[in-house]
Amino acid sequence: MISTTLGYVGRFAPSPSGPLHFGSLVAALGSYLQAKSQQGKWLVRVEDLDPPREMPGAADDILRTLEAYGLYWDGGIMYQSQRHEAYQAQIDQWLSEHHAYYCQCTRKQIKAAGGFYPGTCRDLQLSAQGCAVRLKVDQPITEFDDLLHGRIEIPLSLAQEDFIIHRRDGLFAYNLAVVLDDIEQGVTEIVRGADLIEPTGRQIGLYRQLNQPEVRYLHLPLAVTENGNKLSKQNHAPAIDKQQPKPTLLAAMRFLAMTPPAELSQASLAEILDWGVQNWQHNALPKSTAITLAFKNDEL
Ligand code: GLU
Repeated sequence: MISTTLGYVGRFAPSPSGPLHFGSLVAALGSYLQAKSQQGKWLVRVEDLDPPREMPGAADDILRTLEAYGLYWDGGIMYQSQRHEAYQAQIDQWLSEHHAYYCQCTRKQIKAAGGFYPGTCRDLQLSAQGCAVRLKVDQPITEFDDLLHGRIEIPLSLAQEDFIIHRRDGLFAYNLAVVLDDIEQGVTEIVRGADLIEPTGRQIGLYRQLNQPEVRYLHLPLAVTENGNKLSKQNHAPAIDKQQPKPTLLAAMRFLAMTPPAELSQASLAEILDWGVQNWQHNALPKSTAITLAFKNDEL
């Protein structure tokens, strides 16, 4: 049965560091099915925030791959590379209100201090030159509820750390960008891979700091290879096949604990996705954060 959540907006937010692989297809499909089974909108945002880690042409290739899999998004695409003014304006506001401050500490110094940033530069009134910007965390988020995993506890040492919103190298921090963008796009629920459970507390902290209504979270199990590595662009996970999407789409559904009937492999992509929307049950997902692939990734 399809339940209706009024005004549901979900999204898929790939970083263009390489082509779409099986692990990112799972995130795309899971967020798509969760949105469409609630008659929601499903948006796509290209997270091109970190040019040195990007691969030329990957953003377009990812979009073409989504289309080849029948995963059509609603509305226009947001690109983080076009959002710098909004990120900077928010940072400037927090700096002027003393909710944020410049920090000159290196990673090495923080490691030597025990691994967590102890607030060394909080009251030093440093200027921008060669510095990162950190947000003052006065109300640490030590737990949150995930739709699949239930209550997730965050260690206090991590939760209370003043974290970076603008990096020393001039790049905007992922946590800041993702929250400002999700607010701008009106996202109500975030469905993504379990590798992003850890920064979720910081992101909730940003919503609170911005006085914005919080979103719901559902972290999908990650696809890992037999040796326990996450399938990722950094690990050079192979691109999924754009020419023959059906077997891979059905494999992604099975990964998401669905049991598509055998005859569905003869159906059209649209029919397969339709079946997915009708039969999607996020409660059926295994509560593990990682699932070892039962097939070799290069078989896809
Ligand atoms: N861009 C991130 C990634 O590709 C996902 C961010 C998110 O879903 O919040 O891993």
